[in-house]
Amino acid sequence: MDRASLFHPVTSIHDQQTNGPQIYQSASGVELVSAEGKRLIDMGAGLWCVNVGYGRTELADAAAQAMRDLSFQHLFGGAASEPSIRLADRLLSLFRERAGAPHMARVFFGTSGSDANDTAFKLVRYYNNLRGKPAKKKIISRIGGYHGVTHASGSLTGIDGYHKAFDLPVDGVLHTSCPHYFTFGLPGETEEGYTNRLIADLEDMIAREGADTIAAFIAEPIMGTGGVFLPPTGYFERVQAVLDRHDILLIVDEVITGFGRLGEWFGTGAYRLRPDIVSLAKGLTSAYFPMSASIISDRIWSVLADKSAETGAFMHGFTYSGHPVGAAVALANLDLIEREGLVENAAAVGPHLLDTLKQALADHPFVGDIRGHGLMVGIEFMADKATKRQFPKGTAPHRVVARHATQHGVLTRALPFLPVNSFSPPLSITKTQIDIAVERYSAAVKAAEAELMSLARG
Ligand code: PMP
Repeated sequence: MDRASLFHPVTSIHDQQTNGPQIYQSASGVELVSAEGKRLIDMGAGLWCVNVGYGRTELADAAAQAMRDLSFQHLFGGAASEPSIRLADRLLSLFRERAGAPHMARVFFGTSGSDANDTAFKLVRYYNNLRGKPAKKKIISRIGGYHGVTHASGSLTGIDGYHKAFDLPVDGVLHTSCPHYFTFGLPGETEEGYTNRLIADLEDMIAREGADTIAAFIAEPIMGTGGVFLPPTGYFERVQAVLDRHDILLIVDEVITGFGRLGEWFGTGAYRLRPDIVSLAKGLTSAYFPMSASIISDRIWSVLADKSAETGAFMHGFTYSGHPVGAAVALANLDLIEREGLVENAAAVGPHLLDTLKQALADHPFVGDIRGHGLMVGIEFMADKATKRQFPKGTAPHRVVARHATQHGVLTRALPFLPVNSFSPPLSITKTQIDIAVERYSAAVKAAEAELMSLARG
């Protein structure tokens, strides 16, 4: 039935038609159970999103109650529902208090990370149109960045595979250098020297295009889908100074890093960022309901509010913006994260995940780098570590390993930009579960060795 009826996202049609689907039946905590009854530790938490773990009845109960109380209420024309108002208030407090961002002023809701970034894309235009700067529209993103797949957010994404077949990116989107020292630092270049080069690239781009044409810069605090890239020394501080000098807004895409992934509530706090717009999704509801939020700063809000008597309605928003069931689930999810100290747990066990992976695999000939922050870890494969030689183009060593890992009872993601397996388990994971997962994963890497060797030879 799957082969005959279902069109899968981000899937090779050829592979699906050849192999059929991998069906999962149920899940609890950090474990998924396949249709064949095989139990797997989900070291990806779905798509970096099931922060509280699977099968939490508190969230199911919150959803059921909300559906009984008020199954739907939109926010158009000033309409509202209690859960949507309470969630907006709670997100603002959380962000002001736990992200060190007291300047955030309002919350706009959507349903996905992509649409949150579309909202950001349109908001910066709206803001500059209102300020009488209609030419200041371009957005700078980064090569390797991931911001979604819609027309606008897919253009912000800086990975070729998401562009070529769809004639993206659209006009007005620029991509500056990818901040990943391990792979893109030059031989002999220090990390500081590398940061200097990235900042020079950014400055050159702004000079070339003209600062009066550039509205915003968008960044994930840690690049996720690109390959778990931690910003090099001093990077964000220097970027912020450049943006300030040229009156360019900062959009922080916290779709992965929000809600505890880094062992802190938000990447904004972890990296001391000063955002004008923040995109949130995934961990907002731990993926029990599709929901996103865009938090906007007082500098944007005050322009929108000041001009509002002349502009009429803000003509952007979705049927499901602020869905009362999603908002109720998000509130219950935040209760759980707070009550069970899941952010603190991520901070406590994250280093254990990184250390045990390093102990098990740092000396492996094809494991180039193991890096991470909190419960967000990446393992990058290289054909030759000493010379940093990449595996030949068209090969996918990380997919080979991920396939073996599944057979060994652990799910890890094979990312689309560099050959990286990512680990982003539910924040509720224990050290013992981490030990089991790392043991299975290392066994999988060893089982994949012969295949990796033949790929490396080219
Ligand atoms: N931004 C980031 C940083 C993401 O990781 C993702 C999803 N992986 C998105 C945006 C897009 O979210 P969605 O798939 O919900 O549209």
